[in-house]
Amino acid sequence: MEALQRLAHRWQMVWNRKGAATVEFVSILPLALLISLALWQLVIFGVAIMDTHSAIRDAVKIASTTGDVDLAEEEGKASFGKATGYKLKSLKVKIENHQVKVRAKTDIPFLFMNTSAYTYSGGSEAPLLNNVSASGMMSLANGSVLPGGKLASPVDVPPGCGIIGCYSGHTGQDFPGPIGTEVKAAEAGIVKQVTNLGDSSYGTYIVIDHGGGMETLYAHMYRDQPIVQAGERVERGQPIGAIGNNGNSSGPHLHFEVKIGGRPVDPMAFLR
Ligand SMILES: [Zn+2]
Repeated sequence: MEALQRLAHRWQMVWNRKGAATVEFVSILPLALLISLALWQLVIFGVAIMDTHSAIRDAVKIASTTGDVDLAEEEGKASFGKATGYKLKSLKVKIENHQVKVRAKTDIPFLFMNTSAYTYSGGSEAPLLNNVSASGMMSLANGSVLPGGKLASPVDVPPGCGIIGCYSGHTGQDFPGPIGTEVKAAEAGIVKQVTNLGDSSYGTYIVIDHGGGMETLYAHMYRDQPIVQAGERVERGQPIGAIGNNGNSSGPHLHFEVKIGGRPVDPMAFLR
């Protein structure tokens, strides 16, 4: 109690004496500046590390789904963006024994200091999704060959209109063929959804999650055509349904989509 009184008394002294408050403020100002500088430095560190990991994540995603090391490095660097203050020093993508390895280094300078920058180093690994093999070459019904690339062809008929062909806004690859033609999983994965939109849009469609941010979608089936269920594991080439003409469809065909990170990409790039 006595101590409290003494403290109160001291405060009163400060405020009663003219100019005392100013003295206190001046001595506190540099400290406040130093603290905000330290906090700002922390923010820069945090954002730089986040940017580094988003670059690594994107590079892993591209490399594990396409096997293209150069493209993965390019996309990784692009997703790091043009940050001011810190910069991506290096981003290296390697594929060894069907394993994707990505390492990135970011230089983060210290504010108002002439010492050399701190180099943050991060990395990640993921299995290569594709299993390119001798069975990658597949015969089409018309005798032509569609070389199976990273993905197996979802159906044994030649492709029709492409992602940019036929009509604008097309997000996939069409495979026109007779109703009932077997549709197969383009790669091993888990069936994410089997959705029935009735006779509109995609009709009944299947989405398979292949991991690594890659999904494939198979549309325009009739309600009773899918032979897999959500949650089910499927193998590459396993029959999952059949060509239909349901929903917003101008004729019997499979509408096939490949999505990476939720974004539709040209499926043909994975089938050639
Ligand atoms: Zn289509």
